[in-house]
Amino acid sequence: MQARSAKGWMAIVLPLMTSLFLLLGIMALPFVRTGWAAELAGHWYWQTETEAEAGADWHVFDFPHTPPVDSADDKVWLKTVLPDELPHDASLLIQGRDQSFEIWLDDECLYRYGELEPAFMSYGQRWHIVNIPATAGGKELRIHAYSATAHSLGYFGKIWLDSDVDQVLRIFRQDVPYLMNIPLAGFMLVMILIYSTSPAAPKRLYKSFIAFMTVFLVWMICATNSKQYMLDAPVFWRFLMQMAEYLLPLLANLVIFQVVDRSYKRIVRGTVMIYVLLLLGAVLAELAGFNGMSRGQAVFYAILPLLEGLALYAIWSSAHQGNLYARAVSVPLVFMAGAGTIDGLSLYGHWFVTEGYVLPYTTLSLCVFVVFIVRNQIMRERNLMSRNTGLQQEVSQAIEKANMDNLTKCYNRNKLETVLTEEIFRHQKEEEPFSLIMLDIDYFKKVNDTYGHEVGDEILSGFAQVIRNNIKKKDLFVRWGGEEFLILFQHCTGEETMHIAERLRNKVETTQILDKIAITCSIGVASWHGGDDSATQLLKRVDDALYMAKRTGRNRVCREPRSNMHWFKNLYGDEETE
Ligand code: GH3
Ligand code: MG
Ligand code: MG
Repeated sequence: MQARSAKGWMAIVLPLMTSLFLLLGIMALPFVRTGWAAELAGHWYWQTETEAEAGADWHVFDFPHTPPVDSADDKVWLKTVLPDELPHDASLLIQGRDQSFEIWLDDECLYRYGELEPAFMSYGQRWHIVNIPATAGGKELRIHAYSATAHSLGYFGKIWLDSDVDQVLRIFRQDVPYLMNIPLAGFMLVMILIYSTSPAAPKRLYKSFIAFMTVFLVWMICATNSKQYMLDAPVFWRFLMQMAEYLLPLLANLVIFQVVDRSYKRIVRGTVMIYVLLLLGAVLAELAGFNGMSRGQAVFYAILPLLEGLALYAIWSSAHQGNLYARAVSVPLVFMAGAGTIDGLSLYGHWFVTEGYVLPYTTLSLCVFVVFIVRNQIMRERNLMSRNTGLQQEVSQAIEKANMDNLTKCYNRNKLETVLTEEIFRHQKEEEPFSLIMLDIDYFKKVNDTYGHEVGDEILSGFAQVIRNNIKKKDLFVRWGGEEFLILFQHCTGEETMHIAERLRNKVETTQILDKIAITCSIGVASWHGGDDSATQLLKRVDDALYMAKRTGRNRVCREPRSNMHWFKNLYGDEETE
């Protein structure tokens, strides 16, 4: 039941969320595009530190690509000319990565971030808003930058010139893709966390996937501009983001490892090991002061296509052999590996420049995998559940059978013992009456002797049927042994039970069970005395009463003797059948 409602819930919520996010994305597009208008484009020039000191000529370069500095250089000058017409309250929005820099207008330093020298764990990643004086139109803007890693030196992505207000809006606008995808990824993570608690969950796959989703979420948070409002710690965010960038393919391959066929596990284990070694090397080199995280990333992005190619091969081969998990995981893998490569080429190779990262958009492709594993688990749970119900039914049928007598379809002694114990336990607390009767067919041996054992059996089951037809379903009817039966009447006083017993005796006497064979029975009646009465005493008294009925001529009902009945004074019967 639970599984079905969960599936129904998924079927409604997921497509709804997906369409909502797509809609938001489409609506956000025009806003994102307006940002491009205010780029500080135009002619840019660069010069190394030594060239500047020597007063050499400037070289032209294609901003926002990095100037082609030498790997030995750690400082560079960039310059451009500001437009003649400046916007109202003009400011620059500039995003630095792993570099410290100064911004100069003529001979005046407008802004400084960090010192132009090495720093432990570099300078992180953050955006800066730099106010430009109203008189700066047409003047020369120069940036003096320092970075320990050549591929970050002079790399600012984009620089925008706009009014203060528009810059702030731009910062938030750039976050739209992340703000759309973070809740979706968070929602998937929560869903997987909930499903992972089920005993039917493939535990290792879930663990790897939860780790992957968590790191993906952290990475997306690191990629936002807004995080700087929460915590302005550029080095911390940069380190966290780089860690996430190393961990993402590692954990993705760990998920793939759980999914692929046995024969491909070795390949994937190999790729995971390479990622682990790279991460360890980068962290150690970083701690040793070699900017290992940044430098390692160049290596990392260079081998990423190769390693992901291997993973794809393992996934596709497994999928080809009918592995459904592999088929499901191949969708996000293709999208994420593609997006990761684009981001790598854009941000580290500077082959081309994209507006931020492409990777967040692949969140939707992850939905395919999440829906698949959740759906699979629901199906497995349903199978388990139906198997459980089947087993439960079998067990209760077996118990029922163990408590039944085949010939008469009455319960047997086992059942009586259980019920009698329960009944006595209950009645020790409440002063409620209950009674037993014991029935025995008169001269049954004669029936057997005259007509044979088989006819005797038929009579026995016919007798049981007559009794069953004349008592209520809730009255426990038990074959005590041979041709002796017991019936437990709940809530019945001795007096009431005497009436029932008399009716039953009469019914047996007047019913033709088999053609021309008439039988009678004798019945003993005894009641629960409360307090410290016991099952053994009760059974002894009802047996005694039956014996009395036999001794006094058969085909009659006898109640336990009066002397026994001082407990229930109010139940004293004035007449007693003996
Ligand atoms: P009474 O009870 O009136 O004293 O006489 P009785 O002949 O019924 O005496 P007793 O209780 O000694 O004999 C019971 C007989 O019931 C003995 C046995 O042959 C017969 N009997 C017990 N169980 C079965 C059974 O399952 N099938 C048949 N056909 N006979 C049974
Ligand atoms: Mg008998
Ligand atoms: Mg008997």
